[in-house]
Amino acid sequence: MTANTCVRCGAVTPPHDVISVASADGAFRVLCSRCFNIEMAHLADVRAFEHPEFTPVRLPDGDGVVHEFHFRSLLFGDQLSLEAFELASGDEDCAGFHFQLLGDRPSEPFELLGDLVQKMKRALAVTHLVERAGRLEIAETTVRGRIEWDDNENGRLPCVVVDGRRVDWADFGAILMAFEGWRFRLELVDPGDET
Ligand SMILES: [Zn+2]
Repeated sequence: MTANTCVRCGAVTPPHDVISVASADGAFRVLCSRCFNIEMAHLADVRAFEHPEFTPVRLPDGDGVVHEFHFRSLLFGDQLSLEAFELASGDEDCAGFHFQLLGDRPSEPFELLGDLVQKMKRALAVTHLVERAGRLEIAETTVRGRIEWDDNENGRLPCVVVDGRRVDWADFGAILMAFEGWRFRLELVDPGDET
């Protein structure tokens, strides 16, 4: 049994499609999203819920580079969360784009998928970091990204993911030095909201 084996159905599942669930006794169980949703639909008494499976989609970013996204749908009571992951490999496993949208109609997952893809297209169209003379710079004056765990810092400092690209905290500081003396406004945004 691997770390990604669903304890309920025994399916070996890609890491982006498993969820670790706390049981009443405090122990954690690894479930695939399908089994998680079956249990959640039962617990929350959501009828006529069918676990949606979406095939990966490929979308271009603002520079024409194509990114492949895999989906995970999780039922949270009467809401359906749909996430799109760009899978990265090796020690870059926190990198890649990641999008999420919450929908109030779990029985209409294709509607939610359509909205999520629109959100992804809007986000992918904007490039925040550009490479000039071999160095990363902020393209304009706004940076949108994601705060991620950095194994090298053991959680003491984050790394950030901007344009799907992992940037160490120290390197992000170096990028900001182009704006020495400027002021900034930092706003934290829930993953399901528009940034
Ligand atoms: Zn399962």
